[in-house]
Amino acid sequence: MTDVHSLIGAYVLDALDDIDRATFDRHLRDCEVCRQEADELFEVTARLADGAWSVPPPRLRDNVLAEISTIRQLPPTMVARPQPRSRRGMRLVAAAAALVTAAGAAVAVYTVQDQRVRDAQSRLEAAQASEARVRSILGAPDVQTRSETLKSGGRVTVSSSRLQNAGVIMLTADSAPAAGSVYQMWTIRSGAPASAGALREGQSAAVQVVEGLPAVSNVGVTIEKAPESATPTAPLDALVNLA
Ligand SMILES: [Zn+2]
Repeated sequence: MTDVHSLIGAYVLDALDDIDRATFDRHLRDCEVCRQEADELFEVTARLADGAWSVPPPRLRDNVLAEISTIRQLPPTMVARPQPRSRRGMRLVAAAAALVTAAGAAVAVYTVQDQRVRDAQSRLEAAQASEARVRSILGAPDVQTRSETLKSGGRVTVSSSRLQNAGVIMLTADSAPAAGSVYQMWTIRSGAPASAGALREGQSAAVQVVEGLPAVSNVGVTIEKAPESATPTAPLDALVNLA
């Protein structure tokens, strides 16, 4: 027989089949421990629904499900865990071991999941902060935009705002360079190039915020050896004149 308490993690992630879900729904009415754990787990998964995601990202969900199945296979252990507060008589003693194990498993799932949520949330927050900066630059009243085609195929667009003292380089190539090569962006000030970042191997598009961009005269693009070059070594693939 499946220990019904141990279904809680899969229940909260809506990963149970119909029969198990009905069983657990009935169990929730009678089990205060599981109700409390379920409330906490629902709170965590609800945080995933904030922001850009309407559902947990599939990878996160798979990882948590893998953890749950691992934990469910662990042998019962009687680790330090407070006994349930309510005591309904000696007939509960036989069930106590299973209960303690299940509660421990639920807490372990919760901990694993909470760490993953924090990791995912910090990545999301970084992406949102960057997106907000891009919006503020592109939405500035004095923004100026210039665009050039890439000789290798594609386009580079540079938007610059003096009010924001920053700019955005948007590169959209038709395809990524050959293996071992990457697109690299350069800002050119008084004839001296400085790297504004390189794309990763296989990457063909990027949106790059460059602080202080209004002080530079040109933005260049070259194809360099991965991961990036200290100075441009290849002919310009595009040159955007900002003056
Ligand atoms: Zn329970």
